[in-house]
Amino acid sequence: MPLPPLYGHEGTRNRLVGAIASGRLPQALLFEGPRGVGKQRLALWLAQALVCQSPGGGPGRAKGPPCGECQPCKLVLTLSHPDVHWFVPLEPSKRGADQDRQVDAVEDALAEEMAARRERPLYEPASGLAIHSIGAVRLLLRRLAYRPVLGRRRVFVIGDAERLVPQPGSDAAANALLKALEEPPVDTVFVLTSAAVEALPPTIVSRIVRVRMARLADSIVAAFAQQELGIHGQAELRQRVGLADGCPAGSLRRRTGVMPMRRPQGGSYKR
Ligand SMILES: [Zn+2]
Repeated sequence: MPLPPLYGHEGTRNRLVGAIASGRLPQALLFEGPRGVGKQRLALWLAQALVCQSPGGGPGRAKGPPCGECQPCKLVLTLSHPDVHWFVPLEPSKRGADQDRQVDAVEDALAEEMAARRERPLYEPASGLAIHSIGAVRLLLRRLAYRPVLGRRRVFVIGDAERLVPQPGSDAAANALLKALEEPPVDTVFVLTSAAVEALPPTIVSRIVRVRMARLADSIVAAFAQQELGIHGQAELRQRVGLADGCPAGSLRRRTGVMPMRRPQGGSYKR
């Protein structure tokens, strides 16, 4: 199944498309905002905009949003584009301590996770144990050494990037990524996403351009719940939209004892 469409964030989309058109898109970006607001989905949308053959709707037209129809767009939407690398946190492998085997284990686990997301694109948040291990960063660096397969650009998306540092002081994976972020190859864009930027090392944050993503209007969350989850009963819709608090993925949950995703006390995110 293809990914569900991106809901909301029109202003941010316009700024990103404008930056691509003028050749000023930073090569290392950090999408930050509350959990479930659509950071990784926007990162994949940006990847699509970067590899699309006719952004803006047709060859010769002004640069614009991804067309959604060309082959590269379709490959991104089915998580199958060879130049769009989506890294998500994974539970650590128990397979050997040997470096190459660790990288192979991460590659297998990531492929398995992507296959699961192709089947079921509306995924649950990463488990508490899942991290971006040093093996995952080595896999990223291995892929970075190849040339793009299909086009002239490639994109690395690192979701829940704060999991590069599984606990304070464990920054081997983050450190291994630093040089790549500092001097990315000209054809490469990195997009990190995080709902907990304060957990990322300052050395990482200082090398990337931060893009803040705000909570969405209830009407947009309601549209997501209706169209993507098929929820039409008014009472349930109202309940889910209330729990989601401006984050579409929050509407995946019912009130079943799961903690709702309220914003942090004091509201550290811009609305
Ligand atoms: Zn396209």
